[in-house]
Amino acid sequence: MSAAAWLLAAPALWAGYTWGSHALTLGSVWRGPRAGRKVTLTFDDGPDPEHTPRVLDILAAHGARATFFLIGERVARAGALVRRIAASGHDLGNHTWNHRSLWLAGPRETARQVNQGHEAISQAAGAPPRFFRPPWGMTNLALFSVLRGLGTPCVFWTVQTEGHRPASPGLQVERARCRLGPGAILDLHDADGVPGAGSRLVEALPAMIGMLGAEGYSLVPLSDLL
Ligand SMILES: [Zn+2]
Repeated sequence: MSAAAWLLAAPALWAGYTWGSHALTLGSVWRGPRAGRKVTLTFDDGPDPEHTPRVLDILAAHGARATFFLIGERVARAGALVRRIAASGHDLGNHTWNHRSLWLAGPRETARQVNQGHEAISQAAGAPPRFFRPPWGMTNLALFSVLRGLGTPCVFWTVQTEGHRPASPGLQVERARCRLGPGAILDLHDADGVPGAGSRLVEALPAMIGMLGAEGYSLVPLSDLL
């Protein structure tokens, strides 16, 4: 292999885009056991002062528990909201310090993103987060040893109802219904990464929970599913 070819290949070897290189994500979680009819709703990118309280109200009204993957920088500004999430029986997960893509991040920056997010959640909630999810599902080789050190498994998702492009509330419910199965982990967003994501989610959520109930699924946090 020529020097130029190695230069081109090195970033691809270092970084793993999750859909393309599952070998780098061995030991990670994509879904729970298929036995039983349990699914988990996961909410990324909060806490959001406007949308997260509404999501908590909707979950409480339906007796549903879920898992929230929080961004450390936002956690540091919203301690009371983080404590409310935890006190409502939901699991907390780490979604890095400030949602930087870990793709091509070096070992030091990778560790900083994970550890600062972990620490912010631990301080706000009084207990450490139990899971980790990388922003956009982007990983690198350094990530997994950092996660092993913290004892937080890397959790991706089975179903994403809205990706990089906006999806209407109706389409999100339909995608959830079509791609559903026992043990599914649904990836939802209660804050705006994609503009308007939080509002669309709040609108979609009651119908989504109703559909899941009608299909006979119980909604449990990741610690119960896995
Ligand atoms: Zn995210």
